[in-house]
Amino acid sequence: MAQILDGNRIRDEILAELKPRVAALAANERPPGLAVVLAGNNPASEIYVRNKIKACRDLGIYSESLTPPESASTEELLQAVDCLNKRADIDGILVQLPLPPQVDSKRILMAIAPTKDVDGFHPCNVGNLVANLPGPRACTPAGIIEMLKRYGIRLAGRRAVVVGRSDIVGKPVALLLLHEHATVTVCHSKTPDLPGVCREADILVAAMGRPAMITRAYIQPGATVVDVGINRIESRAEAERIFAGAPDKMAAFEKKGSILVGDVHPLDVAEVAGAYTPVPGGVGPLTIAMLMSNTVAAAERRAGLC
Ligand code: NAP
Repeated sequence: MAQILDGNRIRDEILAELKPRVAALAANERPPGLAVVLAGNNPASEIYVRNKIKACRDLGIYSESLTPPESASTEELLQAVDCLNKRADIDGILVQLPLPPQVDSKRILMAIAPTKDVDGFHPCNVGNLVANLPGPRACTPAGIIEMLKRYGIRLAGRRAVVVGRSDIVGKPVALLLLHEHATVTVCHSKTPDLPGVCREADILVAAMGRPAMITRAYIQPGATVVDVGINRIESRAEAERIFAGAPDKMAAFEKKGSILVGDVHPLDVAEVAGAYTPVPGGVGPLTIAMLMSNTVAAAERRAGLC
């Protein structure tokens, strides 16, 4: 049986290690501060932000959320970011995406002071990532590397294949793997013979947003498979296609009328891989842990403690 890489366990370890650092900052001057900007009323974003605020509270990080209306303009959000940039009690600023369609998201993300950019999306921090210089790294990719390292999965000299080339997952995780001395291939929707390329991977990272697309035909036996995808399945036909042979999963689907699935086929990966991240409970929990880590690191830098 493949080893399950337990994201909840790694998240708890990371958060436990952050606690004394938060306490030291609070004793020194003030606790770290995180501001979250949640524009409009996207239900998924509301849940993500609630979880981020709760994580702050549990750790002793000061947090506040700004909730401009769905009709907010680019100028209004730029002003809000500008105020947060100037605040001495705020170390990290997170603008929850997606923003309402009339807002120029790139301008908003560029307006965040790079030192407060705890999502690691600002071009200055993307440059730091490319050059392997210190700076906040995008949370989900950083969480993936943290998990692989803490499970003792060797990266140096191994073949890594990343499926997906987005700015928030695919590209940064590919660069982080490269800095760990893996030999990295990045694939996307135009890559020919995707199963063949994926089968060359010792480490396979799936980040496409395509439910259960990575079947056994894509997985080298014994590979480590990281499933970044989070897809909610609401169609019975789709659930039956994926979970035929897993009556417990079908029962869960019947009970809720939906079920979460990653980009990797959950039954195939358990049979073929050497180790894999489940969905839920794999990569997901690490994203918030790394956000907390970036916020604490930003506060330490501001306080001159590192
Ligand atoms: P995205 O911006 O939509 O990018 C998807 C990427 O996958 C694109 O590069 C696209 O290629 C590629 N792709 C799509 N279909 C493909 C196919 N059939 N074959 C090969 N490549 C294909 O997505 P994202 O923001 O990176 O997110 C990816 C997934 O991760 C989503 O399910 C998202 O919900 C999840 N996610 C999870 C977390 C977490 O905390 N666990 C965080 C972020 C995202 P092209 O560039 O050619 O179009």
